[in-house]
Amino acid sequence: MIAIGQNLASLAEPCIGEFAFDAETPSTVLLCLPIPPRRCRGSRMTIRLLSETVVNRIAAGEVVERPASAVKELVENSLDAGARRIEVTVRDGGQSLIVVADDGRGMTAEELALAVQRHATSKLPDEDLTHIDTLGFRGEALPSIGAVSRLRIVSRPAGVDSAWAISVEGGKVAAPRPEAHAPGTRVEVRDLFYATPARLKFLKSPRAEQAQVVDVMRRLAMAYPAVAFVLSDGARNLLDLAPSQGELFSARLDRLAAVMGREFADNAVPVEAERDELRLTGHIGLPTLNRANAQFQFLFVNGRPVRDKLLLGAVRGAYRDFLAGDRHPLLALFLDVPARLVDVNVHPAKAEVRFRDSGVVRGLIVGALKQALAGAGHRASTTVSTAALGSFSAPNPIFSGRYNVPNNPSGIAVERAFGFQSPPQEGYKSHPLFEGPPSARTAPESPATPAPDYPLGVARAQLHATYVIAQTADGIVIVDQHAAHERLVYERMKKALAASGVARQGLLIPEVVELDPEAARRLAARAGELAELGLIVEPFGEGAVVVREVPALLGDADVKGLIRDLADEVMELDEALALQERLGEVCGTMACHGSVRAGRRLTTEEMNALLREMEVTPHAGQCNHGRPTYVELKLADIERLFGRR
Ligand code: ADP
Ligand code: MG
Repeated sequence: MIAIGQNLASLAEPCIGEFAFDAETPSTVLLCLPIPPRRCRGSRMTIRLLSETVVNRIAAGEVVERPASAVKELVENSLDAGARRIEVTVRDGGQSLIVVADDGRGMTAEELALAVQRHATSKLPDEDLTHIDTLGFRGEALPSIGAVSRLRIVSRPAGVDSAWAISVEGGKVAAPRPEAHAPGTRVEVRDLFYATPARLKFLKSPRAEQAQVVDVMRRLAMAYPAVAFVLSDGARNLLDLAPSQGELFSARLDRLAAVMGREFADNAVPVEAERDELRLTGHIGLPTLNRANAQFQFLFVNGRPVRDKLLLGAVRGAYRDFLAGDRHPLLALFLDVPARLVDVNVHPAKAEVRFRDSGVVRGLIVGALKQALAGAGHRASTTVSTAALGSFSAPNPIFSGRYNVPNNPSGIAVERAFGFQSPPQEGYKSHPLFEGPPSARTAPESPATPAPDYPLGVARAQLHATYVIAQTADGIVIVDQHAAHERLVYERMKKALAASGVARQGLLIPEVVELDPEAARRLAARAGELAELGLIVEPFGEGAVVVREVPALLGDADVKGLIRDLADEVMELDEALALQERLGEVCGTMACHGSVRAGRRLTTEEMNALLREMEVTPHAGQCNHGRPTYVELKLADIERLFGRR
């Protein structure tokens, strides 16, 4: 199809096919070329209007791409009709049958006849496209579906005695007939795309199409927690969602739990923010709860599920500090925008929107998400400990069942018996990271001291020179000291950069590091940026640099290793990109060579200081790549492990 006026002039000889009016802008005439241009050259064709059936089939190509899009349109109609309960059945992924039944406001016989006509809608009362507050408005879905399938609608308005049915087969509309039906509407779509075999070929397996239907239903169900949704494949229920009552946030969280799983609900933080006339609400998952794809990111604009690049990009921006590039958070975000500031009429399937001011939207999302995550503090997701518990292997069968363990209030004997290593009491010089508040150094005198109420507990031991074991009031915490330190370095670095700058510590003996000449040159070229990050590096002849100062918060750093890794990083970095834009990686590299890295023995003071610092540092529950920095096991869980509960 070619839009006249735009492209006709570019044709050497006007070679005319068939005309139709564009669905959206009737003033634009569409030119259809059913005959290849070569053959029609020279011969005159007559211009004529396309039949309504063909126009509807063309529109159907855009509006109903697959069974799931038909389900979406029909369920949206039910929601627009004020339904409280919507039941959907799909057979063969929706290809052979889709049924959508609702208890909404219903249609009279006259309305039924109109509803299947093109551009007939009850939803744009003043024909104002800048004020759309329903999910539908284009009046295209029913005629489009009717053009490519065998469609039957039975409907009865509330308070009316009789129901009427209307059928449309491949675009041919039959007259409405009386029928028996409860108040509400039931739409049946059989043999979708039987009238357009070309489209039929593009359908995926029934299983894949069904998965899309489930996805569409989930999205709509999240936006309408007060409505009951049931989806069945004829044999069993794929979704069965009871209406969630109560105040918005709790009702929504209930619905989200039912759709996305309890795990999400347990590990989500609420989001609520407003800017200008925009309002953002929803629930977002802690970064430690993440997935390999963005499948569990649900975005809504004015109650309409959308897949919008701008919004997804903003989400990525907000989580950039907490997740590796190939991991994705789980979330459901609802943006409410005054109708005049957003255009929902961008895409026939209404899955995309355009914002008047996309910068404000992005800023709102990034700001609100970061704030919500910071509020979560050092919380790491419970999934982490659940996974940990799950991976404990079953004990020797001889000991299975209930058995008594001698009461052991101090726990010392057990630790000894299990060969726990007690932390070295001297050796490593105190670490600048640990010069925290006074409480940071009040380590227990001996492991027998009862655990005060610190969220991350009191350090009891270090294992494999890598894990800190702490005792909390009601459980134990295992910290990956390296991952935790990496996070702390990063957060400190960010804070320092935003404030006065990163404090440096001079090396007693400057360290010369040999590198390959190109790496040395590139690193030296970034000396200014490195200085801001607390690292003073100068060129030192061909193929070497000399390091004079390092960031104080690294402590006793392995300077050579650090410089070599940083050089590698700089080599990989685009010359135009500032090191600060890769702060996460740079800090990760620095932390790798700082004094709390894996494989370092820590003193009790150092371990406790690490725990206290984690408690007060935002995002300390996960490392820069979204992995947890600690796992907490509650006593109750441990008791269950041992069959004591
Ligand atoms: P749109 O939703 O854009 O108006 P549709 O073709 O989807 O266009 O529907 C046409 C009209 O049919 C709607 O405007 C509405 O008045 C009516 N309608 C469709 N489905 C239902 C339903 N389930 N209950 C009540 N009315 C309905
Ligand atoms: Mg509709």
